[in-house]
Amino acid sequence: MIETKGQKFMALEDQFGAHNYHPLPVVLKRGKGVFVWDTDDKRYFDFLSAYSAVNQGHCHPKIIQALKDQADQLTLTSRAFYNDQLGVYEKYITGYFGYDKVLPMNTGVEAVETALKICRKWSYEVKGIPDEKAVIVVASGNFHGRTLGVISFSNDPDARGHFGPYLPGFKVVPYNNISEITKAIAGENVAGVMIEPIQGEAGVIVPQDGYLNAVRQACDDHNVLFIADEVQTGIARTGKLLACDHEEVRPDILILGKALSGGVMPVSAVLADDEIMMCIKPGQHGSTFGGNPLACVVGVAALEVVKEENLAEKADHLGKIFRDRMRKINSPLIKTVRGKGLLNAIDVEPFGEGKTAYDICLLLMENGLLAKQTHVHTIRFAPPLVITEDQIHECADIIENTINSVS
Ligand code: PLP
Repeated sequence: MIETKGQKFMALEDQFGAHNYHPLPVVLKRGKGVFVWDTDDKRYFDFLSAYSAVNQGHCHPKIIQALKDQADQLTLTSRAFYNDQLGVYEKYITGYFGYDKVLPMNTGVEAVETALKICRKWSYEVKGIPDEKAVIVVASGNFHGRTLGVISFSNDPDARGHFGPYLPGFKVVPYNNISEITKAIAGENVAGVMIEPIQGEAGVIVPQDGYLNAVRQACDDHNVLFIADEVQTGIARTGKLLACDHEEVRPDILILGKALSGGVMPVSAVLADDEIMMCIKPGQHGSTFGGNPLACVVGVAALEVVKEENLAEKADHLGKIFRDRMRKINSPLIKTVRGKGLLNAIDVEPFGEGKTAYDICLLLMENGLLAKQTHVHTIRFAPPLVITEDQIHECADIIENTINSVS
């Protein structure tokens, strides 16, 4: 077997790192736009985009320049002091998404936890739910991150198993079932409902048209907060700035992460109006790195790129072409094709001797395209939104040829 340069790096991770991931056997050392290169200088199309964090493309020059310039000035003050970037960023992002206030955090799951805390606090102090009784409705198949709080209402046995005891106060209802979720929202002591407008990790599950509107309406009817986790779907990925925009639904609490930095560093945010956000007083929530000046300039640059390069419109247009190409692949291996914008997935039939989506991903990798299976039989396709129409066709050719080679 030929020894690749990457093998020594894989061996290092294997020996010294916890085995909490099962990566494809490729070692990347460089990225630019839609491309990444491995340690043998082989070039790949990146069709994962770091789980939709790199919507603006790898190492976007404008974002990297902002990072470099600020890194020479000031990187972290903590929130013990003011800094000259945080307020500028806060004004920009609240104007961009149309909310009164933002609470800056770092990772996606921290923003989710923040949103849940704000929702509970609002429910006791504004809505008047008796202390300790607040219920937050969530959907089955959810993925909101990995903290103890969040896995408490996951129904993925891997995410949950042997991590108990779990946090109470959540009611899980089936996703994409309007009558179940509206019934739950009408229940006693319900403070909020938190959903992904499209479930990414579950395999790009797109709910029926009208689902988000029905949830919004039920929330309005029962004075319940609509919390949208747009960590994966937000920031142009699905062909609109937010996936909720497809139904013109405005969440009460909006959670963003991932592409808020263009994949440059962990930057997340929770947005809400004053009546909700002002429930949080000094000392009641925070993070040493949240709102650091480096993150603030990166966040502004990353959001500017989305507008300047019309990434939402591009994702919408190219997503239609991509799904159309996938649906035209004439292979018994492909069960379903679904998605919105450039967040897409195909379900594949098992093939050969117990082979699954993972094996297709290995073949795609050999053919110069990196994608990752989610669950056993689904492959998610989510390239950087800076991809061109010609490149979408080139990648569709790679996928089609790969599928046909095993059909
Ligand atoms: N919420 C959603 C919808 C996600 O897809 C993810 C990550 O994939 C998270 C939250 C957690 O984000 P992070 O991994 O940055 O904590």
